[in-house]
Amino acid sequence: MAKMVERMQTRSVPVGRIHIGGGAPISVQTMWKHPLAPVRSADLVEAGIRKLEEIGCELLRFSVPDMRSAELLGEIASRTRLPLVADIHFDHRLALRCLDFPIAKIRINPGNIGRPDKVEELVRKAADRGTALRVGVNAGSLPKTLRRERNVAVAMVRAAEEEASLLEKLHFRPVVFSLKAADVDTTVEANMLFSQTHDYPLHIGVTEAGPLVQGTVKSTLALSRLLISGVGDTVRVSLSDSPENEVVAAQSILQNLGLRRFGPEVISCPTCGRTVFDVTGFLEKVQPFLLRIDKSVTVAIMGCPVNGPGEAKRADLGVTGSEDRVVIFKKGKIIRRESADHAIEAFIEELEKF
Ligand code: SF4
Repeated sequence: MAKMVERMQTRSVPVGRIHIGGGAPISVQTMWKHPLAPVRSADLVEAGIRKLEEIGCELLRFSVPDMRSAELLGEIASRTRLPLVADIHFDHRLALRCLDFPIAKIRINPGNIGRPDKVEELVRKAADRGTALRVGVNAGSLPKTLRRERNVAVAMVRAAEEEASLLEKLHFRPVVFSLKAADVDTTVEANMLFSQTHDYPLHIGVTEAGPLVQGTVKSTLALSRLLISGVGDTVRVSLSDSPENEVVAAQSILQNLGLRRFGPEVISCPTCGRTVFDVTGFLEKVQPFLLRIDKSVTVAIMGCPVNGPGEAKRADLGVTGSEDRVVIFKKGKIIRRESADHAIEAFIEELEKF
């Protein structure tokens, strides 16, 4: 179904080493969850960035509430290849400083930057530096003039259009828009409406979606409706959880819709009273290795001999509990029998051969 999705035609916006829109693969992004200002050394942040990059994060956003954060983000951006985004509100001087560094995109809301001359100064510098902007409209922070509009989605689209006309007057084109609400229907309606009349690429997501499970379900519902309709060029799943889980959730949505392929397809048993080995613990330990595999393979992790051998045999690599041992299969053939204690080590050894 989703493999036949006809994506909306949007303009292509270069953002560091990737493009958003113009038919580029729908990118996965997340947000750094800690303040930068207290960080004493950029090395710690860089280690976190590497970890996110290894699992397939393609764009990473940082809040920049003060000049110290702008300086540190600039230093980090000079030393990493992952496109970084500076998220700035109210003070255009922070955006101007960020533009001195190889920061790939600045997320602003021109409405809260203040006087038009400040927006113009910022836009002119972004144009000189070849840096993209993202205009983020949130249902929770609409301009006062639009708060009386009964249809929130319509108000969001109007807010976005006001920002767009400001940037259009300045002839600035490399702009990505986002229209986010905390509920599924408003998010979908606002993005569908906006995409019908504008060719800006869209960063889609439900804002403040919730904790891991509820937030992933809510995001999946909204993003699936949009993506199946061809709307959306980059995705963030906003969870009250780790950025790693945000990346995995977004990848999983895109992969299950057939829009991108990220690493292995994992089949794992939900466990029950027949489970003869610790499937959940096993998955937790092998997950970091699975996320680093950049190949279209199927991996099965099964708990018992009822369905286990059948599923594991169909997979490129599989493991199943069997009495007091685990059995490892590769393309339908048993290649190892191991004690439960050695199962993880043996499985990772086989994974690394991929
Ligand atoms: S594979 Fe076995 S252990 Fe897992 S849910 Fe099915 S019956 Fe239970």
